[in-house]
Amino acid sequence: MPWPVAIVGVGKIARDQHIPAIAADPELTLAAGVSRHETIDGVPNFRDIDAFLADGPDAAVALCEPPGVRTAMARKALAAGRDVLLEKPPAATLGEVEALVAAADRAGRVLFATWHSRFAGAVAPARAWLDGRTVRSVAIAWKEDVRRWHPGQTWIWQPAGFGVFDPGINALSILTGIMPGAFVVDEATLSFPENRDTPIAASLAMTGPAGFPVTVELDWRQQGPQSWDIRVETDGSRLELRDGGARMLVDGAEVAAGPDREYPGIYRRFAGLLARRESDVDASPLRICADAFLVGRRLVTEPFADG
Ligand code: NAP
Repeated sequence: MPWPVAIVGVGKIARDQHIPAIAADPELTLAAGVSRHETIDGVPNFRDIDAFLADGPDAAVALCEPPGVRTAMARKALAAGRDVLLEKPPAATLGEVEALVAAADRAGRVLFATWHSRFAGAVAPARAWLDGRTVRSVAIAWKEDVRRWHPGQTWIWQPAGFGVFDPGINALSILTGIMPGAFVVDEATLSFPENRDTPIAASLAMTGPAGFPVTVELDWRQQGPQSWDIRVETDGSRLELRDGGARMLVDGAEVAAGPDREYPGIYRRFAGLLARRESDVDASPLRICADAFLVGRRLVTEPFADG
């Protein structure tokens, strides 16, 4: 029997990725939709998590709302005996992640904190390529036009919305996915539009696990070509991940990457975790964001006008 999964927060990422990925996975089946304004055709729909937990089918939940409201729903679902998949970032704070891990343990439920970019086609090959090599430096450039990728999304500018760290944490999830160990944020500069509560740009200087420098440039004001690139200098060669981990180059030459398996990969893993009754929660990308906010200098920039 396939594992039933209910989608909570039927918005952009639920429709673009979660619903198709569940539909394509033979070990999973879509059991319900839970959303205040939206419904999913062909399954029972509920206006909120309380109504779903009271009257809905017995199903795991995939929580796809913005991070600021996700933890409260995760706690309710775990307490009601449901397994839980969290979109990225897993929560608004590290404390919330710790509380969720404890709640899942107490309830004996599976908790999966997903990082979709870690399933991009070139990420596993990059991890394998780096194994045994000495890293000299890492440079990350994650620069996109917020008006193009987040039109009309207000939550990204509100407390717990992460601002430019909403896409930037994807880069950090790849970084921590391909290089095990602790990254220390030495300095950060966060640029806040004067009319917004979250940053539109950020520069980080970090120290990697073996002492190598890491620079991170996140910017939501990028016009023209967009960049989601990670460059790793090693003792012998240069590794580049481009297009958010979809492409890999070594010394400028394209290397064959795996297929794009981001959300299908997430749901394959979730099915495996459900079968084995295991959780998978890695908060290391979130910790880097939190540390950047703690040590970061705040710059106030011109007001941001959407549209
Ligand atoms: P979204 O479309 O703005 O929001 C998803 C849904 O969450 C909304 O349609 C809304 O449904 C519900 N929601 C919004 N605010 C809520 C609130 N205060 N309380 C309860 N429900 C609320 O956002 P999204 O782009 O799908 O992103 C959601 C999450 O996925 C974020 O963590 C984001 O980082 C992650 N993600 C997004 C993308 C992307 O390309 N957009 C890619 C990867 C990951 P109802 O109003 O119907 O309840």
